[in-house]
Amino acid sequence: MTTKDIPFTPVRRTPWPDSVSTPVATPLQPSVVYASADPDTLDDQYEGRAKGYTYAREGHPNADVLAAKLDAMEGVEGGMVMGSGMAAVTAALFGLTKAGDHVLGSDQLYGRSLRILREDLPRFGVETSLADPTDLQAMRAAVRPNTRAILIEVVSNPTLRVADVAGIRKLAKEIGADLIIDNTFTTPRAVRAVDLGADVVIQSITKLLAGHSDVTLGYVGATDRAKMQAIRNVAVTFGLTPSPFDCWLAERGIFTFDLRYDRAEATAGQLANLLSNAAPVSRVLYPGREDHPDHELASALLGNRTGNMVSFELKGGRAAANAFTRAASELPFAPTLGDVATTLSHPATSSHRALSEEEHKAMGIGQGFFRVSVGIEEPEYLLTVFRRALSQLG
Ligand SMILES: *Cc1c(COP(=O)(O)O)cnc(C)c1O
Repeated sequence: MTTKDIPFTPVRRTPWPDSVSTPVATPLQPSVVYASADPDTLDDQYEGRAKGYTYAREGHPNADVLAAKLDAMEGVEGGMVMGSGMAAVTAALFGLTKAGDHVLGSDQLYGRSLRILREDLPRFGVETSLADPTDLQAMRAAVRPNTRAILIEVVSNPTLRVADVAGIRKLAKEIGADLIIDNTFTTPRAVRAVDLGADVVIQSITKLLAGHSDVTLGYVGATDRAKMQAIRNVAVTFGLTPSPFDCWLAERGIFTFDLRYDRAEATAGQLANLLSNAAPVSRVLYPGREDHPDHELASALLGNRTGNMVSFELKGGRAAANAFTRAASELPFAPTLGDVATTLSHPATSSHRALSEEEHKAMGIGQGFFRVSVGIEEPEYLLTVFRRALSQLG
């Protein structure tokens, strides 16, 4: 076709240059819409006879590239990237349940996941309850005849307690409920959720996987095709799907995920040992240490992949917490996890601030309690920062 007789307009897109060679880096494709050759072709696309993108909310190449990566890491097929970790939790719970069903959740879930169970699902007629996932009897006592799904995390935040995953998996099988595992803390580097018997796995890619605190994304994978389709439908309809640029950035982060995880984990073990020998510290929680309350369970589930998260308590309460945060000014005091840099969080004033003093006590989160997300600094740098800050507490 010749366009010679049609006047030029800058509004028309200039064709992408041909090249017999292909780019090494993943291209970024921001297009919201895709043009098809004719209605027959579009029909073939919608009916699944031909593969083609139509509209970015329904799917785009950067999301598919990232999803394929997550699928391979988690050992799942056909998983989907979501606009955030919470979009992933939302899509899974709303995709798998209907009014009249019951969902059982761990009482130590991520704060917003707890909120969905406490506030949101009940508004749509889905019953919910919460129980301690380290106590199988408590979980068993909380299931109902209409329990459709059980949502847990392997390692809880911020006390790093380890769920009785094998027992809960058995319970879920017995009652015909889906086991949903939020594998954000542990990551597939430590354990694949499907290897623990999960029917559905959730990731907040935002955290360790993307790893640079510049992307908010999530992931859901399911072992059952029909259930995955139900989750996909909710995600596309509710608009929980991700932007191409975020997917592109996250893929870039994942290239170094294994290296970052291994470095951070090794340093976390060293930091836990330093803290356990420090006079101002009353308690250290790290699943890799023998004095952790769930050390044996952690070893059974995770082997020696005990993660990058370390929690500890200072003897001096809030005053010591203030002094320590100021003395360790090299470490961002920011309630996130999984960044390349080590970050400090103080659950009593951030993630768990809505709880009463009594609830804090019951969970073991005092005013001197910190959670550390260990990053990839040179270990000696980090240990020096901690040594110096702790020494200033006297
Ligand atoms: C952060 C987090 C989420 C939510 O992820 P976003 O990407 O922030 O929406 C869910 N579960 C766990 C365990 C998390 O740490």
